[in-house]
Amino acid sequence: MNEVLVFSGSAGSGKGTVLKCIREKDPRFRLSVSMTTRSPRPGEQNGREYYFVSREEFLETLAQDGFLEHTEYCGNLYGTPKKQFFDMIENGFIPVLEIETDGAEQVMQKLSSYTSVFLSPPDYKTLEARLRGRATEKEEEIRSRLRAAREEIFRSERYQYVVLNADGAAEKAADAILEIMKTGKSESDAVVCDRAKFLASFSL
Ligand code: 5GP
Repeated sequence: MNEVLVFSGSAGSGKGTVLKCIREKDPRFRLSVSMTTRSPRPGEQNGREYYFVSREEFLETLAQDGFLEHTEYCGNLYGTPKKQFFDMIENGFIPVLEIETDGAEQVMQKLSSYTSVFLSPPDYKTLEARLRGRATEKEEEIRSRLRAAREEIFRSERYQYVVLNADGAAEKAADAILEIMKTGKSESDAVVCDRAKFLASFSL
């Protein structure tokens, strides 16, 4: 099995649910806990969701070459701590880097062996319904999030696999990803083969 999973997904893709399913099915998968300068949201714990640090601490770690990759996203810094990542591999775990596309590209350039998966809602209509369904935001905010999600989806071309997460099908998406990690391919229709057709469904 491949040793590293680079896992990105647009807003509304259901990344968290699919990841939970993957970890329940195979406990060797471990979420790499990132360092960030953003403030914790209610319910988030230091060391569980993120290591919450000051900008100074982050920059110090960066100066010591402590990150496998890092980026600035919406005004906050995020980075994957190098030591934790290599310790996981050494201890037989499979690190899952749940990171955005800029960081994912850095990792893909640095590592010789990895599996990269981009998780997406199956089509534009579902994306819109998911964002509207959970949103308490104003119409303008929803539109801006939809635009951002579409941009992310168009960057999915850089990933080895695009996996679609249809409504109620998180387990199917998780199975497809596990199959990809084990065999390098998947017969599941959760995996997009015809990318042009997939991307066309997000073109307005
Ligand atoms: P949030 O602030 O909503 O938790 O995360 C914002 C974005 O940053 C998400 O797309 C998330 O996947 C990404 N992210 C989280 N940790 C890292 C990291 O260490 N590096 C990079 N490049 N992106 C990250």
